[in-house]
Amino acid sequence: GLAKSREALARDLTRVLDSSALGGGSKDLNATLAQLEEVLITSDLGVDTVDSVLADLRADAKAARLTSREDITTCLKDSLVRILLRRGGQDGVADLAVRAKGEGPTVVVVIGANGMGKTTTIGKLATRYRREGKTVLLAACDTFRAAAVAQLQTWGERADAAVVVPKTGQKSAAGVCYDAMAQGVRDDVDVVIVDTSGRLHTNINLMGELKKIVGVVGKFRDGSGPDEVLLVVDASIGRNAVTQARTWSDEVGVSGLVVTKLDGTARAGFVVSVVDELGLPVKLIGVGESVDDLRDFDPVLFVEGLVG
Ligand code: GDP
Repeated sequence: GLAKSREALARDLTRVLDSSALGGGSKDLNATLAQLEEVLITSDLGVDTVDSVLADLRADAKAARLTSREDITTCLKDSLVRILLRRGGQDGVADLAVRAKGEGPTVVVVIGANGMGKTTTIGKLATRYRREGKTVLLAACDTFRAAAVAQLQTWGERADAAVVVPKTGQKSAAGVCYDAMAQGVRDDVDVVIVDTSGRLHTNINLMGELKKIVGVVGKFRDGSGPDEVLLVVDASIGRNAVTQARTWSDEVGVSGLVVTKLDGTARAGFVVSVVDELGLPVKLIGVGESVDDLRDFDPVLFVEGLVG
């Protein structure tokens, strides 16, 4: 499974099925589905997502296809996987965009609130690209936090990636991004990964700054923006991640999500509703603090972990 502790959803599902006629209990199928609806909602799946899952279950019930508890579990899993696939590209694994040779560096801008795991994700991602034989340049655009710059430099050394840091007194994040893009183009670097600030509670206009960063990338490539704008969300914040993702997505534009700390939560149901409600694919997941703990998001594996 995904989490060390058993998923709350899997546990509650077992309880509901045990009490149903299919599990030897007394509840009929309708009562079981009503209980299941409650379980899904308390598992942070969101009302709209639960509605569409329940519609699938009721359709199967009507067609007399729910004759065992396995039928219910299978229908539930299929429904959740379908939602994730609808948003996640052909095979459900949403690959990161790559620029063709000769078109300049692939640019990945990484955004998200402080503490979500942005810098760690960048370190892991840089390592992954390096292992693929690509050259990587990191841009330290969190110009207001010296610690963030230092942390990125540490990851850069570990991953064998160059790091562009703010010049003394340089406060413009877009300026650092400009310098990194110029160096990336000049050195014919394969991938530029841009770290950004995630301070949400200051009066400095963060969203405006992020838009400027996106604009600077465009200056190096006929106006088209970064290849990826990845929003990093921490799985432990649960359904709050949906609200947060909507804000970032509306303000800056997001191409996909990275869900971190899936190793530490037993309540990952919200991931399905982020994908469903926002129409954004999950591209990567973080399952630990070390460099190897970055995975492609696999909807089938994810749902197995969720439903058990
Ligand atoms: P940032 O402020 O968004 O750049 O966040 P950091 O990259 O500094 O990460 C914040 C904390 O979360 C650090 O202690 C990381 O080691 C930890 N972290 C990041 N990703 C994961 C993950 O996938 N799993 C776990 N368990 N911890 C993570």
